[in-house]
Amino acid sequence: MTRLRVALLDMDGTVFDSMIDLAAVRRDLGLERDGRGILEQITELAPDARARGLEALLDAEARGAASGELVPGAVELLAALRARGVRCALVTNNSRASADAMLRRFPLAFDLCLTRDDGPTKPDPTLFRIALKRLGAAATEAISIGDAHLDLLAAHAAGIAEIVLVRPSSWVLDFIPAGVAHHRAADLREVREIVERLLD
Ligand SMILES: [Mg+2]
Repeated sequence: MTRLRVALLDMDGTVFDSMIDLAAVRRDLGLERDGRGILEQITELAPDARARGLEALLDAEARGAASGELVPGAVELLAALRARGVRCALVTNNSRASADAMLRRFPLAFDLCLTRDDGPTKPDPTLFRIALKRLGAAATEAISIGDAHLDLLAAHAAGIAEIVLVRPSSWVLDFIPAGVAHHRAADLREVREIVERLLD
């Protein structure tokens, strides 16, 4: 198979546990969990509710970035990828401010960080395409690692060769279309094993 040259990693719920309760933010705004990203849902609210929703989301994200913790195995996974010559991008629907705040607290070895301030959010494949272009790799040389259907759908739409879904919430599984080939992992140690196997 094609050699993997680039890994595209999601932030929240994948390498970083912000402990943000997005379900509570959704509840406060009266938003259903319908499979769309929360930002997309907020954007469609009436102007007043939209402003309130954006403020609540930004506030939750900022608190999360300031007080969250790395997911166990994140440092080791990045080290393993880099040791095998795989370049790593953090690709998140979170804001630039929160991603930078997280990376200041935990200087993970990413070659690139893209946020919603850099383009349309996942499941749109644009951020993945930008990352591939910036890192000089084809989609067929990339692996995506994320915890949500949004990551999987974006990776699938971008034609990413290997897709890993790690520790997904049970409700996420309702939004995984049948027929999208992917690996499932219970934690980042298992992700590392999958990656090592693919690289051998
Ligand atoms: Mg996530």
